[in-house]
Parts: sequence; structure tokens; C-alpha cells
Amino acid sequence: MSATATVVPSTNGKPHDSFTMYDSSPTFQMARRQLHSVGEVLNVDEGILDRLSVPKRAMVVSVPVRMDNGEIEVFSGYRVQHSLTSGPSKGGLRYHPDVDLGEVAALAMWMSWKCGIMNLPFGGAKGGISCDPSQLSFGEKERLTRRFTEEVLAIIGPRQDVMAPDMGTDEQTMAWIYDTYSMKVGYACPEIVTGKPVELGGCIGRREATGRGVTYCILEAMKVLDYQPEESTAVVQGFGNVGSVACQELAQRGVKIIAIGDRFGAIRNDRGINIPALLAHVAKGKLLHEFPEAEPIDSSELLTIPCTVLLPAALERVIHGGNANKLRCRILAEGANGPTTVEADEILQRSDIFIIPDVLCNAGGVTVSYFEWVQDIQQLMWSEDMVNQKLSELMLRAFHRVLDLARQRRLTMRTAALSLGVLKVAREKERRGLYP
Ligand code: NAD
Repeated sequence: MSATATVVPSTNGKPHDSFTMYDSSPTFQMARRQLHSVGEVLNVDEGILDRLSVPKRAMVVSVPVRMDNGEIEVFSGYRVQHSLTSGPSKGGLRYHPDVDLGEVAALAMWMSWKCGIMNLPFGGAKGGISCDPSQLSFGEKERLTRRFTEEVLAIIGPRQDVMAPDMGTDEQTMAWIYDTYSMKVGYACPEIVTGKPVELGGCIGRREATGRGVTYCILEAMKVLDYQPEESTAVVQGFGNVGSVACQELAQRGVKIIAIGDRFGAIRNDRGINIPALLAHVAKGKLLHEFPEAEPIDSSELLTIPCTVLLPAALERVIHGGNANKLRCRILAEGANGPTTVEADEILQRSDIFIIPDVLCNAGGVTVSYFEWVQDIQQLMWSEDMVNQKLSELMLRAFHRVLDLARQRRLTMRTAALSLGVLKVAREKERRGLYP
């Protein structure tokens, strides 16, 4: 193990010390409050709840990188494994300036519930490097990724912990991790990551999987609420992997995308934004808000525009106590992880907004990651039709399990979804018992 790495055991008999390590992060506080509110509904054993309240393991590493100008810059990197009870841990790797230990720990916890809801044989994990990827050259990103992989080598592996893309990372990032890990172990090991390029053993349809899964959930919610896609509108925050694919999929089914925002600005066109034209515009390296076929608007207006579907697909905690009662959507589809704070959730419970919670809505990514991992281990390849058909089947099954539980027990969709996820992990922990 590298000298810069610190492995932090999660409990070590002092769970409350561990809380403080993560608790400075509002995102982690939010994840833990969600868990405890579900724990009360479910009557989960307190000892198990304590174990689930903190990650199993966290690693903090310093990642020195020689920049293109010859100077050395040291970045902070994190890998957090929330649970290893159900199988290897699984979760994305995020490159963003705001990444910190608490945020990564919260995202790892949500991954555990997500895998539980989808019945996947994984625990939750997440990683991140505090950096601004838009300011790094291709070579700097490669050196950063390879060195980070080396630093966390002791705790990753195809049966231990498998990474995937998240905000700020992509197929190329996964290709570098795959190559670095394979060089270390001495053989090609594609199952060390998912979301790789297809030519390296990636799964056809993985890149689009999260946005597609989001779309399947939205269309199912429309059926439940008796809305026609062709008569519906959507507002989308984030035009990266999740947001852009969801925009394409929704637009193909007749939903009018009337406003989109990203990190640099936002645009609106009430007649419907031409998504293929916008994709071609950004593919040329131009800014979203300079798209000539829509009006630039202030980003702060985006989330409160009246629409059928509001789809946050960027950051956490963008819907909070200050703006929740201003939302004017019928369906809130949480493509991003943790976009709604606990305070906002309480406000929204008093509205008629139908919420598709993040742990269900964006679970398409980890589901197709599971397909990829299985294909790599078995050394075979599914067709795109098979991937999409299986994805749709699993997403709709999970959607209806959540909806049925919510209706039977008079729970919100979020509490129902979290309950299914937490119960699965809690039951597995109970059955396995506590070692030694
Ligand atoms: P991405 O990096 O491809 O895109 C992120 C988008 O968010 C970009 O358009 C960026 O400009 C925008 N953004 C960043 N900061 C913003 C700000 N302050 N205001 C408005 N927009 C902002 O990331 P992604 O993979 O699409 O992930 C988006 C969200 O979906 C994240 O919460 C991620 O955790 C979640 N998610 C992603 C996947 C996946 O498979 N990629 C799976 C599950 C969940």
C-alpha cells in the first residue's frame, strides 16, 4: 500500500467517532437522515442500523500529478465502500471540484440501496477526485487516473470493488483504469471496471443506460398518472451523460423538452428544443447557452419553470427548502443522485408532485454495469436489443415494486424505494451474522 494512503476502518467499536469523519458533509448528513427515517418505518435492528450508518471502509489518497507545465500538483482522491455484504462493491468515480470524503460516502451509501432495490449482487461504493476536469488536458487526466488507480489498488478488484463512470469521468477514464490494473496484475482484466469502451469489453448500451432507465421510469409514471408523452413537457438540469441521453429518449417519444441547463448556463424554447441540433452544437465544443435555436435564460429560473417532468441530472441538493415550494412540475424524476434535500422532501410531500426517487430513477446505469460485469466474467457479449430489453424489464419491475409498497403501506415513493433497498441489505447482514 502506498505511503500516502490512509485506510479508515468504519466502526472499530466506535461508530460515533466514524460519524464525525463524514458528518461535516451536508450530503452525508442527508443520506444518514434518510436511512434513520426508513429504519423507524421498518423497525430494523439498531445494531444493523448502526452498521449501515457508516461505510465499511474508506480510503483517502494524495494523487501527485506532473502537469503539462512541468509542475507537480497534488489532488485528493477518495474511494469509499459502504457495504460488501451482497458481493463486490460497485459505484462510480467522480471528478468534480466539490468532491470530498462525506459526499463520496453518501453516494456510496445510496449505491447500496440502489443495488438492493434492483436485486443486484453488489454492495455500494463510490470514488472521487477533487479536481476540475474541464481544466485538465487529456494527458493530465490520464496521469491523474492512472496514479489514483495505483493508490487505491489495495482495495479494488473484480471480486472486491468495481468502478464505473460518474460525473466528470467517461469510457476513456475506465479504459485507463482497466489498463493500469491489468498491468499491475499481469493479465487483461476487463471486469475490473464497467462503462468501458465496447471494443475493450464494454457493454453495448452502458453509456446510454442511466438516461434510458430514467426515461422508462418517466414513461411508466406518465401511464400511472394518465399523461400522454406527446402532450407533455420536460425541463432538464444537466446535459452530460444522463441528461443528454434522457433528452434524446424523451424527445423521440414526443415529449417536448422546453428548457435545459448546465454548469455554464440555461436555455428555453417553449416550442421544444431540437435535441439532435443541440447535440451537434455541443459536439462542436460550443456552449449550451449559445445554442441559436433557443433563448438563454438565467440558470436560477430553470427548476421552477412549469412543466410535466422536471429532471435534475447534475448535482446534489439543488432542490432545497428555499425553492421546493416553487416547483411547478407534475413528475420529479431524479436522474442525479441526491438532488432533493430532506427539508425539500418534506415540502414536496404536501404537494401532488409524483417523485421518482434517485435510488430507483437512475438505477439503469448500475443495472447495465452488472450486465457488463457478468459478460466480462463469462467472456461473451449480449446484443443491444437484449441489453435494452433486460434493462426495461428490471427497471419496470423495480418501479412497480416501489409503487405497490408505497400504495400498500401509504409511504412516499422515496421511503418505499429506500425501504426495499435497506431491507435487502439489512436482511443479508442478519442472515450472514456478525464475524467472528
Ligand atoms: P456528466 O459529467 O456527464 O454531466 C454532468 C452535467 O451536469 C453537465 O452537463 C454539467 O455541465 C452539469 N452541471 C455541473 N454542475 C452544474 C451546476 N452547478 N448547475 C447545473 N448543471 C451543472 O455527469 P453524469 O454522468 O451525467 O451524471 C449526472 C448525475 O447523474 C450525477 O448526480 C451522477 O451521480 C448521476 N448518475 C450518473 C450515472 C451514470 O451512469 N453516468 C449513473 C447514476 C447516477
